[in-house]
Amino acid sequence: MLLSPSTPVNSAPELVFHSQLPTSLSWRTSTADERIGRLKKIRNWIKEHQQDIRDAIKNDFGKPEPETDLSEIYPVTAEINHSIKLLKKWMRPISVSTPLPMLGTSAKIYLEPKGRSLIISPWNYPFNLTIGPLISALSAGCTAIIKPSELTPHTSELISKMISELFPPTEVSVALGEVTVSQALLQLPFDHIFFTGSPAVGKIVMKAAAEHLSSVTLELGGKSPVIVNQDADCKDAAEKLIWGKFVNCGQTCIAPDYLLVHNSQLDNLISELKVALQKMYDPDFKGIETSPDMARIVNDKHFDRLRNSIEEAVTKGAKIAFGGKFDHQTRYIEPTILTHVSDEMQVMQEEIFGPILPIVPFSNLDEAIAYVNSKPKPLALYYFGGSTEQSSKALQETSSGNAVINDCVIHYIHTELPFGGVNNSGIGKAHGYHGFMAFSNEKGVLKQRVGLNNVTLLRPPYGIRAKQIIASLIKWF
Ligand code: NAD
Repeated sequence: MLLSPSTPVNSAPELVFHSQLPTSLSWRTSTADERIGRLKKIRNWIKEHQQDIRDAIKNDFGKPEPETDLSEIYPVTAEINHSIKLLKKWMRPISVSTPLPMLGTSAKIYLEPKGRSLIISPWNYPFNLTIGPLISALSAGCTAIIKPSELTPHTSELISKMISELFPPTEVSVALGEVTVSQALLQLPFDHIFFTGSPAVGKIVMKAAAEHLSSVTLELGGKSPVIVNQDADCKDAAEKLIWGKFVNCGQTCIAPDYLLVHNSQLDNLISELKVALQKMYDPDFKGIETSPDMARIVNDKHFDRLRNSIEEAVTKGAKIAFGGKFDHQTRYIEPTILTHVSDEMQVMQEEIFGPILPIVPFSNLDEAIAYVNSKPKPLALYYFGGSTEQSSKALQETSSGNAVINDCVIHYIHTELPFGGVNNSGIGKAHGYHGFMAFSNEKGVLKQRVGLNNVTLLRPPYGIRAKQIIASLIKWF
């Protein structure tokens, strides 16, 4: 079977995988300009097909066009521009200093492409989270097979079209289809697997990777907490939180999952949250469901999951401070703020991934920190409050993939920051240099320079001289 640009990888995953070997070997010596050329092809395609991207994502889950521009197109083009600007610098071998016992040698760290990569992406930012990692793979000089989500078929089809127009399958190829397609791909000995999705599937990916000792980057999810301390500016916090929570209808890996609010701020914050919701999503008092800026839930399964979790919380004693309406036909769930929640409720156990915002009060910062530390380490932690001493305390005494003080979510588009989780929320980092590094092998290379091979003194038979040198190495170095 010959590989043409239209060869579906789903029908021949092994064949496509093997066909990428010669490319991956030749790309070891690829120059920055060659890699930049590939990135530019993607940038040009995006420029010419912006409306196609907006339409596809709107068809998949009603995402408003400005949100697609902001959270799907902009982060990818920013990532491309950032890589184009800095790739030559990133690729340069890094000279390291010579420790005294290694006198006479020189050493450098070379960054070589890992080789053939697999990118598995989720549905919630279907373009960004597929093409973003591809930018890192191509920057590092890796080939890729991409498996986008089956839950966003319009966007996945468009990505497949884009890749087949820009690359032969021996370089980059897209595998469309259900979970079985990922499962088949995961049997293959990829050099690196970059997975974005849930912690549950992340474990499956890591187990499969272990079979071949493929390296992994796991960009996972979890419950990202927000601490609103007693000295926070409630109006400011509320506006930022409403946007961060309800962009993409709450279906964002780094969305504020729940709020921990100082008792003294509770009433004020809740009323500011309501004001902000009204202002952003219902300025004409026609109902949030009429807002063109509110996306919808991706499918019936997730709609039912979210509705059940609100109903379950209310049955167990939660109070609805705002929202609570649903429309099954349009998969609309009104932004819903819950108070009086407890750990027995689903909303406080599982990642919410939808427009529900539970609030838990606390009376001092230690209590809030202890609550965060009683849960798996989150992807992001957000802290609102004026005191640097208190925010530093919260940062130092908790662990999270990223953290933001006095804002939320926007760290995602900071191209210089590593993005990712820790343990249950992820392994490895993405974006910019950190994404490039995820697909690169740091090869430490030592060169013996002067031929003065001091080490001969340390070879057997070990006499008194060798023992003296070893003793001084231990003592002085
Ligand atoms: P998911 O884990 O269900 O699916 C992700 C991908 O894995 C899809 O392409 C899917 O086809 C594939 N997959 C699903 N089950 C599989 C299996 N058994 N074996 C192999 N592959 C399988 O995630 P999702 O519902 O698409 O996305 C939501 C999750 O992703 C949330 O937990 C969210 O927090 C997380 N997420 C994380 C980030 C991040 O950058 N850290 C970004 C977006 C989403």
